[in-house]
Amino acid sequence: MPVVWLSDVDKNDIPVVGGKAANLGELMRIEIPVPDGFVVDARTFRDFINKANLKEKIYPKLRNLNVENTEELNRVSEEIRKMIEEAKIPAEIEMEIRKAYRELGNGKEVFVAIRSSATAEDMPDASFAGQQDTYLNIKGEDLVVEKVKACWGSLFTPRAIYYRVQKGYRHEDVSIAVVVQKMVNSEKSGVMFTSHPVTGEKKCIIEAVFGLGEAIVSGLVTPDTYVYDRNSRKLVEVKVSEKKFMIVRKNGNEKVELGEKSKERVLSDQEIEKLVSLGELIEEHYGKPQDVEWAIENGEIYIVQSRPITTIRETEERKEVIEEGKILLKGLGASPGVASGHVKIVKETKDITKVEQGDILVAVMTTPDMVPAMKRASAIVTDEGGMTCHAAIVSRELGVPAVVGTKNATKVLKDGMLVTVDGEKGVVYLGRLETKAEKEEPKFVSAPIITATEIKVNLSLPDMAEKVAKETRADGVGLFRIEHMILSLEKHPMKYIRDGEIEKYIELLYNEMKKVVKAFYPKPVWIRTLDAPTDEFRAMEGGEDEPIEANPMLGFRGIRRDLAEEMHFRAELRAIKKLIDEGYTNIGIMLPLVVVPEEIRKARKIAEEEGIPLEKIEFGIMVETPAAALIIEDLIKEGIDFISLGTNDLTQYTLAVDRNNENVAYLYDEMHPAVMKLIERTIKICKEHGVKTSICGQAGSYPKVVEKLVEMGIDSISANPDMVNKIREVVARVEQRMILEKLRKLS
Ligand code: PEP
Ligand code: MG
Repeated sequence: MPVVWLSDVDKNDIPVVGGKAANLGELMRIEIPVPDGFVVDARTFRDFINKANLKEKIYPKLRNLNVENTEELNRVSEEIRKMIEEAKIPAEIEMEIRKAYRELGNGKEVFVAIRSSATAEDMPDASFAGQQDTYLNIKGEDLVVEKVKACWGSLFTPRAIYYRVQKGYRHEDVSIAVVVQKMVNSEKSGVMFTSHPVTGEKKCIIEAVFGLGEAIVSGLVTPDTYVYDRNSRKLVEVKVSEKKFMIVRKNGNEKVELGEKSKERVLSDQEIEKLVSLGELIEEHYGKPQDVEWAIENGEIYIVQSRPITTIRETEERKEVIEEGKILLKGLGASPGVASGHVKIVKETKDITKVEQGDILVAVMTTPDMVPAMKRASAIVTDEGGMTCHAAIVSRELGVPAVVGTKNATKVLKDGMLVTVDGEKGVVYLGRLETKAEKEEPKFVSAPIITATEIKVNLSLPDMAEKVAKETRADGVGLFRIEHMILSLEKHPMKYIRDGEIEKYIELLYNEMKKVVKAFYPKPVWIRTLDAPTDEFRAMEGGEDEPIEANPMLGFRGIRRDLAEEMHFRAELRAIKKLIDEGYTNIGIMLPLVVVPEEIRKARKIAEEEGIPLEKIEFGIMVETPAAALIIEDLIKEGIDFISLGTNDLTQYTLAVDRNNENVAYLYDEMHPAVMKLIERTIKICKEHGVKTSICGQAGSYPKVVEKLVEMGIDSISANPDMVNKIREVVARVEQRMILEKLRKLS
């Protein structure tokens, strides 16, 4: 069947209807108000390509194409699109499209939106936003057929070809489905991030304009922004912008000046609340924060599209401007990071060639054709747009800092000007300003500080390993938290295993772990086996089966889970074994959340079964429960080389304060005497038994705690990357003081 109805599709149909259509079908199933429509599926596109004998003509042209050569890219794209345009659609396909359109309007000619949905689209690791064409306000059978064909052709625009090459997709593997959907004649419309697109906080961000949403996506109008805190259930921020005009549907899209109305707030509190609850339903259904397009017609909300947010980032990556500078412009911080460089104003596509590596790309609004230049830029600044405009979405995905909606960047900034862009705060400064990360780079005047206590670093992101190793010169990694790395994989560890893809999972783990052990070699890297709280892993694909727990912090996580779901534990060990076999013996295996000796015994046995040479590497545990601290003698008997104090958990379990519960956060105190007593006891007994001691909880980054730990005789401290240098100084001072005191006593 060339055509399928949206109400008949679900996520299993992604390969044939594309992510966009499958999502709409899924939403219909959970009774989210979605405008009706049908899909000309991806098989139909392939059918067309085959029957029109285009396959052999198109793909060879793309095989050796150098996409960095803009001219060549444009030429090939044009040739392919022309071929598609001139080819005839097989009669049976055309008939079906016409019939479905008539049915959609119940015999009447209705306005439809025709959107492309590439079948690799909306995958968790890539956003094809704006890559293929969308046509709005299409009416009449002939036009519908024509635009469907135009959508097919848009699979080969220069930007779409470029993007696929960048993302490593084979052109042949990406097909295109076309969604034909009734248009909502919206009086208001916009987009909604169900969680913050940069930090991932449970803050719903809604952008709204009057009229059609096209105004936002194209960046033509700076929308109102509303921030709704889903924890406190409060609207915490309302930014009403000046929306000079709106786009309305007449016989096509028309711009209408808004006059007085331009400064009015678009959404009422009630509308925001309704939108948030729909957003929450959708997020809950998919188990992932969503980027939702919505529209309101006659007071009714419709959800036009929803896809996962692909851009939530780790906080460690951020840089901050620390020097005072002259502020040239302010806008919305749309993609975090700080960068300095020379301004290059891009007015039209042909200007992109003047943007060189490290320049600051400045435009009224970016377009998909600018992506190659956006990649070379060190930051992006635009006049228009909000958190969801093209510049914002693409910059976040490319990891380039961006400030959007500055109103007049293209006027205030001049070609060649040196500026610093803070994509977090949304500010553009004059000149090159010093940033925090730069300042923290070791600048030694005399010999580097050497401490007897080793200073290590905690790490979560393998891609940061080299940078962190270089900048901190840490004595190793005291905690390699593999949870973040695993959370960024395509699917839940157990799903790989259930799908018979354990080898693939091992390979992924091995590749990521290798980045860290290699960057720090020969310094030790203590790899902690998976500590996966059910609530955090539920959001992953295949994580739907995670048990719902009243208190995940006391639940199915840590070593108890590793032993119960032994296969993913074995997969980690196999990845580690591969590294050891390659000569990376700078590895330590660390077990999380140990409470009884049997856990160590069983884990050891499994490690031995997997052929891990425990005599060659270090094997240890986290002490992060009062139980472990109080029976440390018994745990030591199981044969461990080291312990690391996990004060984040140790504090919550000792004080009965859930570390994720803001209502009791005021009671959370790592320096509480009870916690300190458990720590002191653990260090003392471990020392007596020749077991190395360390700390990797957040308290290891607190100078006050660290002073005490050094006095207690801890062997190493593992701090956050940003605190390593500071902690090294603190440790050096305490050590010096201790020596001095000893000497004074002797004399
Ligand atoms: C800890 O509990 O202190 C610790 C380092 O582990 P996590 O924060 O990953 O639970
Ligand atoms: Mg812990």
